[in-house]
Amino acid sequence: MQLIPFDNRKGLIWVNGDFINWNDAKIHILNHGLHYGSCVFEGIRVYNKKIFKLTEHLQRLFTSAKILDLEIPYSLREVEESTKEIVKKQEIIDGYIRPVVWRGSELMAISAKKGKINIAIATWSWPSYFSPEQILKGIKMNVSEWKRPPPDCAPTDSKAAGLYMICSLSKHKAESNGFDDSLMLDYRNYIAEATGANIFFVKDGNLITPKADCFLNGITRKTVIKIAVDLKINFKEEHLNLDFIKECQEAFLTGTAVEITPISSINDHTFEKRDVTKKLIGAFKNYVNQI
Ligand code: PMP
Repeated sequence: MQLIPFDNRKGLIWVNGDFINWNDAKIHILNHGLHYGSCVFEGIRVYNKKIFKLTEHLQRLFTSAKILDLEIPYSLREVEESTKEIVKKQEIIDGYIRPVVWRGSELMAISAKKGKINIAIATWSWPSYFSPEQILKGIKMNVSEWKRPPPDCAPTDSKAAGLYMICSLSKHKAESNGFDDSLMLDYRNYIAEATGANIFFVKDGNLITPKADCFLNGITRKTVIKIAVDLKINFKEEHLNLDFIKECQEAFLTGTAVEITPISSINDHTFEKRDVTKKLIGAFKNYVNQI
């Protein structure tokens, strides 16, 4: 697959109220978001021209921004309309949307309350590259050395760019050791999530997921829980120790980007079954196409 750099593409990006040429959507080097992490973002899917849970994602964007003390200079309705417009202008059928909010370059200091708050929305086509058979094979995960911080040490309820620093480090290390992704524990050593997705386990037909009390309670996570309950699959949220994985027959990740992705192994424990995972993948596909 040929990679097209994200700073050299055709089309438009919505930036602070205007549609500008993709390659002109630039920021200054002395940007507060870049230097001090004053930046939050979202990831949203477009399925067959329809934006999946747009309002829910934008509500989370506004909440994340508020947590980081970034006041978005538009209403949620205005951002919603602009998102719909950019998706139309870019002629997206199946794609991804990346809204981002950051503090500008007016002040170069930790304290930069008077720095301008910027917002941009980029979107691009993102059809599914893998066949259902390939997806069902699952991904290989290791366990990261980095721990998810406690809620009184980082804004864990937000989708803040700074929280991804340990995610990139974990994923890079996993990939350089032949894994696809990394499982992260939290500050108490409970299982938390992957580097950009939530995690579920299946033990004897029961669906179990870690309590989202120090990491992102994903919109896909909530959707999958709803679907599982509708399908009458027994479901529990619990604090889980790493040893718990040895009792499980199935595991999968959920997230806007990964949708539902089966896990084939975590370190040397393999997950041989896909029964509940397959059921949920099928029901999730129907769900995103209906909504
Ligand atoms: N955790 C992290 C760290 C993520 O980046 C994501 C992706 N947004 C998720 C979980 C899943 O969230 P969602 O289902 O809302 O995409």
